[in-house]
Amino acid sequence: MIRLFVTDALSSAARAAPSPDQARYLTTVMRLGVGDEVALFNGRDGEWRARVAEVSKRGCSLESMEQTRPQALGPDLDLVVALVKRARLETIVEKAAELGARRVQLVVTRRTNADHTNVGRLQAIATEAAEQTGRLDVPQVLEPVKLDKLLDGWDAARKLMFCDEGGDARPALDALADEGPWAILIGPEGGFAPEERERLRAAAFVTPVSLGPRILRADTAAISALTLWQAKLGDWRDAP
Ligand code: SAH
Repeated sequence: MIRLFVTDALSSAARAAPSPDQARYLTTVMRLGVGDEVALFNGRDGEWRARVAEVSKRGCSLESMEQTRPQALGPDLDLVVALVKRARLETIVEKAAELGARRVQLVVTRRTNADHTNVGRLQAIATEAAEQTGRLDVPQVLEPVKLDKLLDGWDAARKLMFCDEGGDARPALDALADEGPWAILIGPEGGFAPEERERLRAAAFVTPVSLGPRILRADTAAISALTLWQAKLGDWRDAP
């Protein structure tokens, strides 16, 4: 069944208006008509069985009928990633959504060379990935901020898994221990500057980790780190 993220509230007999792109997908690409069913979620009200209630030139209208799953959230895990080349960044956002990150914070570091990005497009990629995975929320993609500023305002209750390619950090599976809110930090293709590494390693909330003896591209590093975190501390431990 087609799953769509909508922003409208979902309740019995409530109407939801899909975005123009979603409406085009439903009616023109998938050729759905009045009465055909879809699944809807909005990140707040769980998942609903819904039907196409109306189709017009300007779009279509969906009516939710019954809740099929109550709202649930995955683990409190953020991905903090330096701006890297567009195609890689898009992969990272898509995989973060699939692997269960709650938010993706873009950062600018000393050696970041990509300086512009389209957060709207990345958010659309995160939304489509969330629709496909069956998760009941969509990870939020947050506008880039400078790494120093992000660290200045860091909530010390959130641990930071610093993926440190420097070679002397502990293996990730050994280093990860504490339960609770976490974030994963992935640097740009140029790596972290020595002063950034020093600052990170000095912070009490930071756990430097190694992802093995080979230098990984940022996208591979992000996928590997999310995987290890989910297996050690996240919801991959949960029985179905
Ligand atoms: N140009 C850098 C590599 C950057 S790779 C260099 O040659 O040193 C991009 C990011 O992926 C890094 O900043 C780091 O966060 C992560 N990463 C890549 N390989 C890693 C490894 N083996 N262990 C930990 N983190 C790694």
